Amino acid sequence: MIPAAYAVLDSQAAAHNLAQVRRLAPHANIMAVIKANGYGHGLLRVASALHEADAFAVARVDEGIRLRKAGYGQRIAVLEGFTCGEELDDLLHYQLDAVVHDPTQLDIFAARAETAQIAVWLKVDTGMNRLGFKPPHIADVYQRLCCCSIIKQPINLMTHFANADATHDAMTTRQIQAFNQAVYGMPGERSMANSAGILAWPTALTDWVRPGVMLYGISPFADQTGAALGLKPIMSLHSRLIAVKPVAAGEPVGYGGSWHCPSPTLLGVVAIGYGDGYPRYAKQGTPVLVNGQRVSLVGRVSMDMITVDLHSQPHAKPGDAVTLWGNGLPVEEIAQWSDTIPYTLVCGITPRVQIIDERS
Ligand SMILES: *Cc1c(COP(=O)(O)O)cnc(C)c1O
Repeated sequence: MIPAAYAVLDSQAAAHNLAQVRRLAPHANIMAVIKANGYGHGLLRVASALHEADAFAVARVDEGIRLRKAGYGQRIAVLEGFTCGEELDDLLHYQLDAVVHDPTQLDIFAARAETAQIAVWLKVDTGMNRLGFKPPHIADVYQRLCCCSIIKQPINLMTHFANADATHDAMTTRQIQAFNQAVYGMPGERSMANSAGILAWPTALTDWVRPGVMLYGISPFADQTGAALGLKPIMSLHSRLIAVKPVAAGEPVGYGGSWHCPSPTLLGVVAIGYGDGYPRYAKQGTPVLVNGQRVSLVGRVSMDMITVDLHSQPHAKPGDAVTLWGNGLPVEEIAQWSDTIPYTLVCGITPRVQIIDERS
């Protein structure tokens, strides 16, 4: 039986998006970013759909271990690296690449004398001020890493953009220059571009690119949908009507009575809410597809249900199909109506939502 709220994943869309990245960065290797449970799509499902990627990147050690245990033999980079010896043991045992971004990691390395080796990505903080060493320290850190027998040579080099989705902001150009200067003359592969970097900053396309959101068919830009960029959404979020009822003009609907029906209408109740990851802050008027047609969200989003105005669909009935985002209704649009970014919506799908593979 299909549950009330479910997400359908289109693995062919994933392969299509990966091919788009190859077209945009034909000379780069692709490190597919599948952190945060594959941006909410399911870590192993996404890894399977993107198995042709040259490498994977995850945020945490345990995510990397799950991929190795599932049999993936590609390079897997752990973007947050490690903070203690036990985590380093796991990285070594499962042969995961560690991102090196903090001086405490250098001390942990220096205390090791084993013969097993680990590949590392030295992270340069070129202006984001999150992870990484500032450019003036890079040469020194690089030398220290070269002295650690535990580290595979050559050392890989990376940075991360803070503002690459702002295509008229000079920040990204400054970050690219700062990175190139900081790593000048060092052997080792280089990686800079996230999705926005791949789409908007050709000079950021070095040995490795690190697409995340675009692989899921979602645009990193606030003013463009993934479809406009030639991408296809992987996830479509669905539910169904569970009640349809007339409401009179002036009636309040939902918690707090935040919406009053301006004229007599037909109200639909849909079995999805913030308990499924539908955004609590979606505004009145947020589009919802009922039987493939756009209707408007009205009233507050509750834990298990939302209400929609069905005046344009007088024949709608309980059981009818509802789409919250995905095919036919870009998640980017729902993000705008909810004052958030699409990343948070797909990441926020809760375990109650059953994930179903598209049967093609
Ligand atoms: C999340 C992340 C990416 C991918 O970013 P998108 O905007 O989703 O393409 C790339 N690199 C690093 C270091 C990240 O943390």
